Amino acid sequence: MQIYVLKFGGTSMADHKTWKQVLEIIKKYEHPIVVVSATARTTRQLVRAGKLAAQDKLEEALEIADEIKVRHNKIVEDFLEENPSEKKTLILDSCRKNTEAKIGKLNKLLAYTQKAGTLSPQMSDAIASMGEQISSYLLAQCGLVLGILTQHIEARKIIKTDAEYGRANPNRLLINQKCGSLETVLESGFTPIIGGFYGEAPDKTVTTLGFEGSDYTASLIGGAMSATAIEIWTDVSGVYTGDPRYIPDAQPLLELSYYDATEMAYFGAKVLHPSTLKPAQERNIPVWVKNMFEPEAEGTRIVRSSDHNREVLALSFKTEMAILTVSAYETLMGYSFLTKVFSSLKDHQLAVDAVNTTEASVTIALSDTEVLDQLSKEFIEIGHVSVERGKGLISVIGCTIDKMDGLSGRIFSALGNTKVDMISFTKEKRIVNFVVDEGETVEASKAIHQAIFTG
Ligand code: ASP
Ligand code: MG
Repeated sequence: MQIYVLKFGGTSMADHKTWKQVLEIIKKYEHPIVVVSATARTTRQLVRAGKLAAQDKLEEALEIADEIKVRHNKIVEDFLEENPSEKKTLILDSCRKNTEAKIGKLNKLLAYTQKAGTLSPQMSDAIASMGEQISSYLLAQCGLVLGILTQHIEARKIIKTDAEYGRANPNRLLINQKCGSLETVLESGFTPIIGGFYGEAPDKTVTTLGFEGSDYTASLIGGAMSATAIEIWTDVSGVYTGDPRYIPDAQPLLELSYYDATEMAYFGAKVLHPSTLKPAQERNIPVWVKNMFEPEAEGTRIVRSSDHNREVLALSFKTEMAILTVSAYETLMGYSFLTKVFSSLKDHQLAVDAVNTTEASVTIALSDTEVLDQLSKEFIEIGHVSVERGKGLISVIGCTIDKMDGLSGRIFSALGNTKVDMISFTKEKRIVNFVVDEGETVEASKAIHQAIFTG
């Protein structure tokens, strides 16, 4: 059985028109397993509602919940309006009931959060997952209208995780077991439709896999089922040499290796969740990134080895970064100083994007998070600390070292007078990172992109 796991993101799930397009794509496959995100904007709205409730603004939070309900009801109504069906009343009824029940649950979670006065990570996941819980059910119902034998599968039954709310780690062994039931669904001729992004902890509470986690769901299922391919359907024609929203001359990449694609995801090319490729890579399953709105376009194929002979692959950037520098007091240098710095990072589970070190100082580029101040306080015990916020990180990915001569010259001349706070390069990772002021990130990225790809 040739199984294809198809994942559709928020923009694909925007309204009844895109739902139709999604379902038309699904129809073309013999044995698809479908993973969907929440409809566009919903996850962000849910997160905001949770925060409002914690700030004692329950009324505003409930208004958001209501807006989500109305929007989803309308998508289904519009869908049924444009795609007549004998089962219209039945489908409309079951959709309304399901959405009503989910929003009822959401309202309870919000009320609880208000009472608690704080949004616990556990509550936050329960709230944030509602978008996928709702969208997956409704899309499955709409599939029936177009004659697709859909079956909604509750993600909690399949995506088993630990209890690290907010970025739960999947229990691969259990997921592999649970995916057995999907095979039965496929064998009976049904198309499973599953909400991405969330799963379930051992104690049956809801967890989420982190921002953009639906890709990860798709890859976990694809890996477990040894799928023929995993296809991530999005709103751009694959992975580009730069974010096409900001870099007008960005070009699509036809092929990428798992390794380079992971690095790109990590350094801000928001096409994939950074963990997405792991399960696919283990079983050597190709991952395609394709454009919903241009289904005939080839997109990008991500495979094990892609021997690119280019001097460079892509550029990505991210903002809301900070750089933190610790310089050792004279009495504390060398490895004990470095050990202290890195063990603090471990204690806070902080992911660092770039580091420069000498024996007596460490400069770290990392996302500006709430723990930054606390971290600085800890570092005062070992050295002088400075924190600069409002930074951007530009990463030039897939730089071939023996071609670096010409490349670095072009990069640096493109940077011109841009003030650079930090540079890092490692041969193994083939990445050059620059930290610049946030406000200069996009312009500098454009200039570098032009210099390395078209200059
Ligand atoms: N809806 C979730 C998010 O916005 C998960 C996803 O779309 O992948 O992060
Ligand atoms: Mg996405």
